[in-house]
Amino acid sequence: MKISDLGEFGLIKKIKEQSKGRSPSTLIGIGDDAAALSLSPSKKLLATTDMLLEGVHFDLSYTDLYSLGWKSAAVNLSDIAAMGGIPRFCLTALGIPSTISVEQIKEFYKGFNALCRKYNVDLVGGDTCRSEKGLVVSVTALGEVEKSKMLTRAGAQPGDLIFVTGTLGDSAAGLELLKAGYRGHGTGGRGKGSKSAIRNPQSEIARLITKHLQPVPRTEWGRKIALSGCATAMIDISDGLSSDLGHICEENRVGAEIRADQIPFSKDIHKAADHLKAIPLHYVLSGGEDYELLFTVPPSKLKKFLSLKISSTQIGTIIAGNKMFLRDDGKRVVLKPKGFNHFARAEYSL
Ligand code: ADP
Ligand code: MG
Repeated sequence: MKISDLGEFGLIKKIKEQSKGRSPSTLIGIGDDAAALSLSPSKKLLATTDMLLEGVHFDLSYTDLYSLGWKSAAVNLSDIAAMGGIPRFCLTALGIPSTISVEQIKEFYKGFNALCRKYNVDLVGGDTCRSEKGLVVSVTALGEVEKSKMLTRAGAQPGDLIFVTGTLGDSAAGLELLKAGYRGHGTGGRGKGSKSAIRNPQSEIARLITKHLQPVPRTEWGRKIALSGCATAMIDISDGLSSDLGHICEENRVGAEIRADQIPFSKDIHKAADHLKAIPLHYVLSGGEDYELLFTVPPSKLKKFLSLKISSTQIGTIIAGNKMFLRDDGKRVVLKPKGFNHFARAEYSL
């Protein structure tokens, strides 16, 4: 069905029906001039917004609308996780071109709501407009965190150990596989023309593609790390390790040394190596969109931290100075922040 047959208010009504508020904290959700929400008085409010633009962040020839909805919620929840917070509410603002159907918007909210329900997050409002060129998605997430437990990018000191959750590089590898014509299970995308290049995925390829299209925010781990009281700083890895670790270094006027042999890779990225154009380390350093958490732990808290068995890997150390180094095969090379940068020229390097 065309969106013009339904109109703006008809579409909002459908979105409202599909996204009924569940939490008693949502006093007023979709349908009034503003949502009315109640938050715990002892906690701080966290607020974050991320935009996803067709042609910049996603390509509808390889992203289906369910995955896009999922991912647009996930990237915002990841920012709340990186502060050690609990995600509570979301708002979605859409710019919709005439090429998108009502069914596709329904798919978008199916994916969006699936992720939100997993974390008890209510969709409480948004905005809906026509876009003259390309689909525009802007999501705002609100969360909360105990005053004494909040983690920020600031706080890391020389000697602190650098940890990351999960494995790195999978999402960037998944994107490269999508660009090469591979498709994952159930994530077909709209397809452009014949696309005879679409290749049947093996399971490791499908899993890497899913990591790119449907990342999972590290909400539980972010909470555990914050509640442990052991971490000094935290950030989510959205632009690549070199870039996001660079933010921690800059914020704290410190440097870092990373050990290539300690970086956690998935079995999948090694298995898919023949199909990828770059080595896994390249995807880790400048690929981005892993949405894993990077955090620092001082040596004095290491024993306690390890006893909590929060699944994570130590990849390096914060050092004095303002440079980042990568230790690889006995060599120590300077590591420059080279992640995704919207306004960078192709040869961008610091
Ligand atoms: P207003 O003109 O007062 O901004 P709107 O007609 O834009 O009101 O929106 C009506 C209600 O629907 C509001 O509660 C708004 O937050 C909600 N809303 C609009 N678009 C969306 C959307 N894409 N997703 C979720 N809620 C939406
Ligand atoms: Mg409005």
